[in-house]
Amino acid sequence: MGSATGFLETIRTENPYRSEAVRLCDFEDLHTGQGEDARRAQASRCMNCGVPFCQSDFGCPLHNLIPEWNDLLYRGLEREALNRLLQTAPFPEFTGHVCPALCEKACNLENDGVTNRDNELYLIETGFANGWIHPRLPLERTGKRVAVIGSGPSGLAAADLLNRMGHSVTVIEKADRAGGLLTYGIPNMKLPKRIVERRIRLMEEEGVRFELNREAIPEELQGFDAILLCGGARKPRTLNVEHTDTQGVMFAVDYLTAATKAVLDGGSPSCTAEGKHVIVVGGGDTGNDCVGTALRQGCASVTQLEMMPAPPEERTQANPWPEWPRVLRTDYGQLEAIFRQGADPRVYETTVKSIRKDEAGRIAGLETVQLRRTPEGKSEQVAGSEKELECELLLIAAGFVGCENKTLERFALQADGRGRLMPEDGSHHLSGRLFSAGDMRTGQSLVVRALADGRAAAKEVDRFLTEPIP
Ligand SMILES: Cc1cc2nc3c(=O)[nH]c(=O)nc-3n(C[C@H](O)[C@H](O)[C@H](O)COP(=O)(O)OP(=O)(O)OC[C@H]3O[C@@H](n4cnc5c(N)ncnc54)[C@H](O)[C@@H]3O)c2cc1C
Ligand code: SF4
Repeated sequence: MGSATGFLETIRTENPYRSEAVRLCDFEDLHTGQGEDARRAQASRCMNCGVPFCQSDFGCPLHNLIPEWNDLLYRGLEREALNRLLQTAPFPEFTGHVCPALCEKACNLENDGVTNRDNELYLIETGFANGWIHPRLPLERTGKRVAVIGSGPSGLAAADLLNRMGHSVTVIEKADRAGGLLTYGIPNMKLPKRIVERRIRLMEEEGVRFELNREAIPEELQGFDAILLCGGARKPRTLNVEHTDTQGVMFAVDYLTAATKAVLDGGSPSCTAEGKHVIVVGGGDTGNDCVGTALRQGCASVTQLEMMPAPPEERTQANPWPEWPRVLRTDYGQLEAIFRQGADPRVYETTVKSIRKDEAGRIAGLETVQLRRTPEGKSEQVAGSEKELECELLLIAAGFVGCENKTLERFALQADGRGRLMPEDGSHHLSGRLFSAGDMRTGQSLVVRALADGRAAAKEVDRFLTEPIP
């Protein structure tokens, strides 16, 4: 351990946000970085605990060697620290931007946990800036061919590892850009797309082949020795009301995709919030991304409806450390709405009761209703609590119910009751040469979990390809 008293001498400081007034004018990175001295000082706060909960199942799903690289960083050995990080973390530049940092909440310093996410981002960006990151090619090829279907974080992590193991990997992606939700989902200000593109280019130099604008069809995959399905859990949950097919009602990911395409390609998005009263249904992270995007597009107002009550401000006894704290968080989009509108955009225990449409078939407003919990734990509408809201754009960010039907039908697969391709034995092996990973296998989750699952699947595929059949 570098500094026995680091956590006593240095207070936790995170990479700061740019001010709301400035960042609302563009779709550029929300954060600015801190310099070398600040990062080394932050790393000195890691106490190298005898039982590092940050690395446990409560903490980092990749089981990153956090105390080891924090110690090396504190000592100014950035290159060695980066090498240690890369032992387990395939793409620290992604997690360094978007990971909720389960490790930091599981840290023994609890609310003042070490800033591992910012530290890992600093290490990988220092690596790129100093030319320490080179294409890593396998010494020899095995002659085995693997098709990875889907280029989200699980597909990329699996492709990366399988390629390093010497297999020839082709990533098949139906979108026009690689990255899955890293590209079309998570907005540019949270994860700048140049960072995703940089990694894809590096993987291409390492020998991974990307085929974009191509939907996977089993008959066209005969030449592959194994097929790993990483198609995500992209079927959105809809609202239980009429007129959800009205013009001006959209699923969140479709809206966010159009917004990012416009940022990357230039021009206006196919659907914009500009000048509109926007209602977002869903108080989670996806809803927050819609709030931040609508504000940047110049909406007239934005409101976020959430069915559940507001979470507590502090941990309850039923949610002790080192569990992830289920407490009230105010994310960047909500902070921006407070700045622009003077109030938190979230309205709790409220849902949409009906959607009104005009003669031209466009959304003309909606009626909301308050909800309350019954003693049996069910949710019921409160009679007389209905309200009319102006709404010209309704964004449904109510979660996801599993993988898309088309892929299931094409591959003659059946999802489980939760819409997942999760083999009963908990493995990644579906049948024959077919495997699954990421959200498609686990249900909608997190980037870091998709990365870990992609790597675990790659190891199973490798065993399938290389171990003799008993
Ligand atoms: C708006 C939004 C914001 C989020 N923000 C965060 C965040 O800040 N931090 C975080 O940790 N997590 C976040 N998540 C969750 C995270 O993005 C996902 O858990 C993660 O991307 C899942 O990775 P995946 O590889 O399993 O699937 P995906 O990223 O969904 O990728 C699947 C890919 O497969 C492709 N595909 C599907 N079927 C086929 C087919 N038949 N043929 C070819 N291609 C196909 C799709 O086009 C897609 O590109 C967010 C999710 C959303 C929706
Ligand atoms: S990937 Fe996430 S959980 Fe793991 S060390 Fe980085 S910030 Fe922590």
